[in-house]
Amino acid sequence: MCRLQEFGMNNAGMRMVTRSGSRSRGSGAGPRGSGEEAAPLQRGEAAAERRKDCHPVKRQRKAQSLNVAYETSDGEKGEGTKPLKVPSWEPQDWQQQLANIRTMRSEKDAPVDQLGAEHCYDPSAPPKVRRYQVLLSLMLSSQTKDQVTAGAMQRLKARGLTVDSILQTDDSTLGTLIYPVGFWRNKVKYIKQTSAILQQNYDGDIPASVAELVALPGVGPKMAHLAMAVAWGTVSGIAVDTHVHRIANRLRWTKKVTKSPEETRAALEEWLPRDLWSEINGLLVGFGQQICLPVRPRCQACLNQALCPAAQGL
Ligand code: SF4
Repeated sequence: MCRLQEFGMNNAGMRMVTRSGSRSRGSGAGPRGSGEEAAPLQRGEAAAERRKDCHPVKRQRKAQSLNVAYETSDGEKGEGTKPLKVPSWEPQDWQQQLANIRTMRSEKDAPVDQLGAEHCYDPSAPPKVRRYQVLLSLMLSSQTKDQVTAGAMQRLKARGLTVDSILQTDDSTLGTLIYPVGFWRNKVKYIKQTSAILQQNYDGDIPASVAELVALPGVGPKMAHLAMAVAWGTVSGIAVDTHVHRIANRLRWTKKVTKSPEETRAALEEWLPRDLWSEINGLLVGFGQQICLPVRPRCQACLNQALCPAAQGL
């Protein structure tokens, strides 16, 4: 069963694009479920389903900044899409650098490949519980090694990890379960607050827009874009963490040096073809875990050494 099918996603070859003011041409699709397995939606049904279900249950707040457009899988544009924008700048040699990274990552044996958010949920749980578990694993993962996040998720899942079970767990017990993830005390607080909002406003599910996800306590843009990709099967933006931020700057994949992951995300989205956005996070995170390390990168073992502007200075 593919990842989209596991979540009850659309696999009919249609792509959904969420827009928040910037250009976008999307890949991936996924109707919002309501806790039940959803049959693949036909074109147009997904839009109606998403508009209906993306709203919080009680507040009925509209995601006004988001427009939704569709593409067929062969790139044919549907109504509401804009002409593709040709980037005015792109990095020298990026295609060869990317091909080299794909080669170096071909074994798929980095920690992120086995323990990332795609692997932390219970595949037998109902779709909205799986989506909640994806979001929770992302919240736990910031400033934390994948192995530590996976251990915490295992302990939580052993008790039945749902919005209700978390809200019924006292803070001290929750802290013991997630320790030693980074900033575990703050995360206990954020997980409780976010779970209460999900229960109250989203019927125990997670929101299906970046704007609503980042409004949750303890959820940042990287987590939101990964949640959209993993839980909803929608490409909403490039998920940039410290690995992607560091490597993009070392390879000069940003027009000028960027100072934060968010700045890097915007710089990459300016030129990187959208059909590569979903691949970049996992590819570069694993590359950063194994070769382009934060300190003392293994440049001698890197296929990009001759093409890397930063290699000489490291
Ligand atoms: S040459 Fe070194 S700094 Fe450049 S991408 Fe490879 S490992 Fe990273």
